Amino acid sequence: MDFRLTPGQEALKKEFENFFREEMKKAPLLGAENIYDNDEAWDFHCYMARKLGERGWLSRPWPKEYGGQAAPIIEQLLFNEVRAYYRAPGVDYQGLGMLAPTLLASGNEKQKQQHLPPIARGEIMWCQGWSEPNAGSDLASLKTKAVRDGDYYIINGQKAWTSGAHRAQWCFMLARTDPEQPRHRGLSFFLVDMNSPGLKLRPVRALNGTHMFNEMFFDDVRVPKENMVGDENRGWYVSLMTMNFERSSIGFMAEAKRNLEELIGFCKETKRNGERLSEQPLVRHLLAQLTIDVEVGLALSYKVAWLQGKGEAFVIPAAIAGCAGKVYGSELGQRLAYAGSRILGLYGQVKAGSKWSPLKGRFESSYQECVSLNMGGGTSEIMRTVIALRGLELPR
Ligand SMILES: Cc1cc2nc3c(=O)[nH]c(=O)nc-3n(C[C@H](O)[C@H](O)[C@H](O)COP(=O)(O)OP(=O)(O)OC[C@H]3O[C@@H](n4cnc5c(N)ncnc54)[C@H](O)[C@@H]3O)c2cc1C
Repeated sequence: MDFRLTPGQEALKKEFENFFREEMKKAPLLGAENIYDNDEAWDFHCYMARKLGERGWLSRPWPKEYGGQAAPIIEQLLFNEVRAYYRAPGVDYQGLGMLAPTLLASGNEKQKQQHLPPIARGEIMWCQGWSEPNAGSDLASLKTKAVRDGDYYIINGQKAWTSGAHRAQWCFMLARTDPEQPRHRGLSFFLVDMNSPGLKLRPVRALNGTHMFNEMFFDDVRVPKENMVGDENRGWYVSLMTMNFERSSIGFMAEAKRNLEELIGFCKETKRNGERLSEQPLVRHLLAQLTIDVEVGLALSYKVAWLQGKGEAFVIPAAIAGCAGKVYGSELGQRLAYAGSRILGLYGQVKAGSKWSPLKGRFESSYQECVSLNMGGGTSEIMRTVIALRGLELPR
């Protein structure tokens, strides 16, 4: 593996950096990262999404016929790295990261033409209706039903933990269309307009009080049959078709790098008991270890993108390395949040907005949020099981 960027890649990274450095000067002072909870932050997210869309940066890796530039995965990694480092919103993870690759792989022409351009322009936001109260890791046990009625499917059931559903215009979801089939074979993949009659949301507040999650209730929601992606009862396999999407977890690593840099700066400036924090052996040890951890994480993310860029033959090794990146990146975020809170001491518990809260309350918030990092998108236990079974070929 060659660790150097080409001159073209260096120039592209600079272009991303210049853009995000300037644009982030306009970010709301508080909550720019918590886009779902706060109207001002959401408006800024939408503004950034349209700006990124105008530049064609959201859809760079897509094929040219759908408005992309067929850009290599490594360039998408650079974009995601710089964006995460600057804590910039503007990317709809569900629409761009999950649905678009699914439509590109399994959507029909009409679905691609209807949904891909608005995603590329940053106009339409999506949510992901997969998990249910009794179906998370074991997703195939989901119970929400879709029953065919003429040109429609009638959907009934409940979804859980739907991030950003209260902001989204559309939802992609899985529902059971044939209860007689083995679990994975009776599911279908639907696109649902969030304004559909019978669809109701109930907010679920996170540990730190923010509103990101929702419960979604489907009560006789009518969905046109054209909104099914792929064939009936093949939804499970449709949902797996996201392989051409950059999945290096670089966002975790770049965000950790930025947070760590700020923590180090704080330790250099702040005295406690007459001594700078940066002079205290325990603090120095923690910071040095985290610096090593961040560098390891960045190298791992670059490795995933490199493997993905090598094509079809490397799909499995890239997916396994992607699982390792997810486990490592989420646990790195947790180690950093815990270490930062420990170093900041009691002031570190003061919420953003107070003159007493160091580093804009970032560690107060991340200490609470980081609990969920290794659950969303597949838990660490499930990822480790995949690595053991598929990567190491250990017995079941
Ligand atoms: C931040 C965040 C955002 C999310 N956003 C969305 C969203 O937008 N849309 C959506 O549909 N869902 C979303 N989810 C839900 C997420 O997909 C589930 O939380 C996840 O799949 C785990 O399911 P669960 O919570 O039901 O836990 P469970 O599956 O009940 O797991 C509980 C514990 O048991 C362990 N466990 C379960 N099965 C096994 C096994 N076979 N072997 C070993 N250990 C096991 C798990 O690792 C976990 O520690 C989100 C979750 C989070 C935390």
